[in-house]
Amino acid sequence: SLEITSGAEMAQTNTVGFVGAGKMATAMAKGFIESGLFHSSNTFASCPANWDSSEIQEAGVTVYDENAQVAEKVNILILAVKPDVVKEVLQELSATIAKRNLLVISVAAGVAIESMEKALEKPARIIRVMPNTPALYPGYGACVFCPNSICTSEDAALAEKMFSSLGFCSQIDEKLIDAVTGLSGSGPAYVFTFIEALSDGGVKMGLPRDLSTKLAAQTVLGAAKMVTASGTHPAVLRDAVASPGGTTIHGLHALEQGGLRNAVINAVEAATKRSTEMG
Ligand code: NAD
Repeated sequence: SLEITSGAEMAQTNTVGFVGAGKMATAMAKGFIESGLFHSSNTFASCPANWDSSEIQEAGVTVYDENAQVAEKVNILILAVKPDVVKEVLQELSATIAKRNLLVISVAAGVAIESMEKALEKPARIIRVMPNTPALYPGYGACVFCPNSICTSEDAALAEKMFSSLGFCSQIDEKLIDAVTGLSGSGPAYVFTFIEALSDGGVKMGLPRDLSTKLAAQTVLGAAKMVTASGTHPAVLRDAVASPGGTTIHGLHALEQGGLRNAVINAVEAATKRSTEMG
């Protein structure tokens, strides 16, 4: 059974295994181990022998070439394979998942809970998680999770604890997951574009590129920090820095003329619709 008391006790009692040992598995393993939620000796992964798994091994994770070797050792099994591999992995491990009553967590984009349930012979506790790429740096991820109907409140609390170690984490209804994909899933790419444009503006006004990009990125990081740390509505923060007749209000007017807000809303809408089509 799962224990969720304190982080330290959780590390003693729970074992976690990743099926797939790529970028996302490595990011999660690092976050879980660094935050003390799991001991590296309780953290396992599997991937085909011909794939490079050196990075996750450097994080202290023991890697096997057979998925079953991991499923036999753990009580939490995290599917961190590409979406098109999820079904075959579930079919392969179906008997072990049932026999050992494993909690199954999937981070695969676009793979619905229902399709995972159908791939298993017996009902299992499944949690679908949608993380984003900044989770590669523990503390900077934004992720949501949805437990299936037979998960207990302990399972949900455990998922919350685990994924909070990667950054912001919230439980949602699965019907909202496409919108989350359109916002925080695809969002880093929108923000990269904004940072690049901000840097271009600096270069146009005479700043060297390197300095300009560093200032642009740090400005985005700092503004995001102000929103998260203060909990204040962004409009209030914006108003506070726009002094009458000053530089900022002139800049803001130019942004409105360029339709920034409209473009960003359209981006979230377009990506959400695309995610719906793919799911
Ligand atoms: P990746 O290519 O880095 O890793 C995939 C891993 O799966 C590799 O280690 C590979 O060896 C392994 N693998 C392939 N076939 C396997 C099999 N049959 N059994 C066991 N392991 C197998 O991919 P990634 O970027 O880590 O993405 C993994 C999942 O995470 C995807 O489903 C993706 O949708 C999801 N995801 C990733 C990100 C991200 O930021 N990278 C964000 C959100 C969601």
